[in-house]
Amino acid sequence: MYYEGILYRPPSEARSLILQITVGCRHNVCTFCTMYKDKTFRIKSRAEIKAIIAEALAYDPKAERIFLADGDAMAVDTSLLLEILDELYASFPHLQRVGIYGGPRDILAKTPEELATLKSHGLTMVYLGVESGNKEVLTSVCKGVSPEQMIEAGQKVKASGLVLSCTIIIGLGGRALTQAHALDTAHVVSKIDPEYLGALTLMVDPEAPLAKAIEQGDFQLLDPWESLRELRAMLENLKVSHCVFRSNHASNYLPLKATLPADRAELLKTLDRVLKTSALEELRPDYWRGF
Ligand code: SF4
Repeated sequence: MYYEGILYRPPSEARSLILQITVGCRHNVCTFCTMYKDKTFRIKSRAEIKAIIAEALAYDPKAERIFLADGDAMAVDTSLLLEILDELYASFPHLQRVGIYGGPRDILAKTPEELATLKSHGLTMVYLGVESGNKEVLTSVCKGVSPEQMIEAGQKVKASGLVLSCTIIIGLGGRALTQAHALDTAHVVSKIDPEYLGALTLMVDPEAPLAKAIEQGDFQLLDPWESLRELRAMLENLKVSHCVFRSNHASNYLPLKATLPADRAELLKTLDRVLKTSALEELRPDYWRGF
């Protein structure tokens, strides 16, 4: 398959066929993110999308999972998204699910009816980067929404019946806001109550605007133990009904897997044990971490 520039997808879409129906991210100003900085956002034309689907069909006609990229394919007009979904299900007889990245502002721009219609046409899973639930953190990283708007976007996806997977970033508030970031993120995620939650740990590309703040001493990265303490505080305060939690992304110091709230006590016990021993060999070394 041909893709424009570097392609990103959620770890859980590793076995999916990726269709790049948009290029880049419409927002593209978050200070910690360089994923799409070299791309100008655009939605591909109908003709381009038709050609992509034909190419995908030749590549893997038995595909069971498809992921719509790039960074915010939810920005695509609902009528075009419905056409795409209909064509995918008509073309791929084994197709079971279609996932998409959804930026909070683009989710908010859709009506509840539009989201429900997308679900009824086979959109299955929406990935929402919550990153933080703290107002100051969201503002400082230029996420473009308030905690209240983030909650509204997440709840809107859930109310439509689509499956929601949220991502949070450990360390995004730096040392100064670690406690507030932990507690407010737990609050926002609890309000959204997603089916899936992934925790990444902040890693800053030297080209990211946040790198300058670090260099100037305005932002202090957490060390591994501070990161784990922050994660512990988040998990301790999280109130979700049934959520598959993962922190097994390559950026994390300690890979964890759990179903919350059932496994919370075990998860906290593991974190407490690792924090108590402070044994570096328990952690993924920095040189193995990556995005
Ligand atoms: S974090 Fe997400 S919304 Fe922000 S610039 Fe990167 S891809 Fe776009």
